[in-house]
Amino acid sequence: METIRIYQQDPYCRTAAAAVTSANYDGRSTRIILDQTIFFPTGGGQSCDTGTITCGSACYPVTEVIEEGETVVHLVSGDASALSAGDSVDLAIDWDHRFDNMQRHCGEHILSGAFFRLYGGGNKGFHMGEDYMTIDIEFPEDASAKRVTWEMARAAELDANRVIWEDVPVHVNYFDTREEAETYPLRKALAFEEDISVVTIGDPAAPADCVACCGTHPSSSGQVGLIKIFKIEPNKGMSRIYFEAGSRAFGKIQQQFDTLYDISVKLSAGTDDVLAKFDAYEHRAEETHAALSALRGRLLESEADTLVAEMQAGLVKYYDDFTVDDIFNLGKKLSGSITGAIALVCRPANTAVLLSEGEPHCGKLVKENASPFGGKGGGNATSARAFFPDAESLDAFLSNVL
Ligand SMILES: [Zn+2]
Repeated sequence: METIRIYQQDPYCRTAAAAVTSANYDGRSTRIILDQTIFFPTGGGQSCDTGTITCGSACYPVTEVIEEGETVVHLVSGDASALSAGDSVDLAIDWDHRFDNMQRHCGEHILSGAFFRLYGGGNKGFHMGEDYMTIDIEFPEDASAKRVTWEMARAAELDANRVIWEDVPVHVNYFDTREEAETYPLRKALAFEEDISVVTIGDPAAPADCVACCGTHPSSSGQVGLIKIFKIEPNKGMSRIYFEAGSRAFGKIQQQFDTLYDISVKLSAGTDDVLAKFDAYEHRAEETHAALSALRGRLLESEADTLVAEMQAGLVKYYDDFTVDDIFNLGKKLSGSITGAIALVCRPANTAVLLSEGEPHCGKLVKENASPFGGKGGGNATSARAFFPDAESLDAFLSNVL
């Protein structure tokens, strides 16, 4: 049975009365069919409306709306079978959710239209995610462009926002047949033969966009508010564009500005010169790193000389300022000068590096003796590492093997 779809004629209708056609409870949820509805069912990449169906003092939250042929089915969780055919009910949709959908859906049309008009790029895939919307842009074989560059994306983004600033009308026209619909300058070939709704943004003679779509859209482009592209990614030979429209685009830009502002404060910069300040900061960090590396190298050389002078089997040295990598580098400088097995310990990491000239076999010492003390590690004949849960376990291991 055909449900009259009020949202098609008036997407701004937030509340309406309707009569129940049927209400069937299946043990988990109730399927409610009405003579008419303001609830948009899931379809065309757009999520369904949520809201309530109220009858007297009983209010049923609508969790899902689906389309079954010409019928719109409203699902409410739990038992709503107290509703019976002929009952009058009041419908209310979650307007914030609906308007969000309208802004996003229309934003997708406008941006896709911009890529098409500017570069001949076709939108081959659309997804309305929770974090971003994406479109996959593909170019025909004979097009000069093969993929979307950031410069192209910025030009399309500017063009799309100009369409918003011009606040042109958004028309939805319904056609019974494909032939009638194809009199419009459609961006994309039709996928249906009949009952086609065509959304035209701007003058139909030279529209910003014109495409078949069953979603809900605002009545003018200005209501989309804003379109912002955030990322481009290659995807199966196409270019995937991550973007947002409307209040979501505004929210993301606010969030990103807040981050920029916080970074500016940390660098004692303004948001305009934060990059120059960061470059200077990075340059200073590189200089400091280079100076530190040189000093570290000299310190390791000096420590190697000390170790060679003190060398004896079973030598154990503890370090608080060297990393495990530093200690391995130190070990390399000792090659040819080691007596028996010695241990160099990185105290903060509870890690011992065992070194020898091959006898005893350091890797075997770790493999055969570390685990009783909770240690793990391994290595080869001349060097091995073992790390432990605490300093006491490490010391107990060293007492055992050296
Ligand atoms: Zn649409």
